[in-house]
Amino acid sequence: MQIKTAEFVKSSQKWQECPEPNLPEYAFIGRSNVGKSSLINAMMNHKDLAKTSQTPGKTQLINHFLVNENWYLTDLPGYGYAKVSKSLRKDFEKLITNYILNRKNLVNLFVLVDIRHTPQKIDLEFMQWCGESGVPFSIVFTKADKLKPGAAEKNVGIYKNDLLQTWEELPDLYITSAEKKTGGDLILDYIQKTNDF
Ligand code: GDP
Repeated sequence: MQIKTAEFVKSSQKWQECPEPNLPEYAFIGRSNVGKSSLINAMMNHKDLAKTSQTPGKTQLINHFLVNENWYLTDLPGYGYAKVSKSLRKDFEKLITNYILNRKNLVNLFVLVDIRHTPQKIDLEFMQWCGESGVPFSIVFTKADKLKPGAAEKNVGIYKNDLLQTWEELPDLYITSAEKKTGGDLILDYIQKTNDF
């Protein structure tokens, strides 16, 4: 898919404040610092559409972008901040889970994980929750340029094995680098394929 236009629509503090759910929507989520903003910017061919390196713990918002005037890209707040209080973390969780469960036009959730790390409990728990809640999701490995190809494949293999302990089927997997601008095209192809734009 060629990106012709990508514009910021609004930031919402609650799922009820999100734009009218009248277009297909694809959301991106992951731990803070996973490279979400960088990947969104790389995919959209934009330097600073999504803000990079926001300070963890600040007000977390759901950001909507309108792409090619026919689908929404949603940048969800990062989960798993180590530095915020338990009650604030609970607020984030509520915001995210309410959005995911109530957003009628949500087609797919892209869960980002850093390719350098072994599967983290918080990511696996989140994916487990998605599965149990019937939320379609894919896994996006970020920062692939930081590893040699062999090491990247090894880490993806470890992830697959871990998932297959509890899942019969694997979700779609994407290996990306915002730095090298690789992998994002396959995500955009998937988005195009799942909708008749
Ligand atoms: P976010 O908090 O998930 O939005 O993460 P950011 O996009 O702000 O990225 C966090 C840090 O990782 C920044 O210092 C980025 O420059 C770096 N980063 C993000 N994506 C990549 C990538 O593909 N390759 C490399 N080498 N660094 C990346």
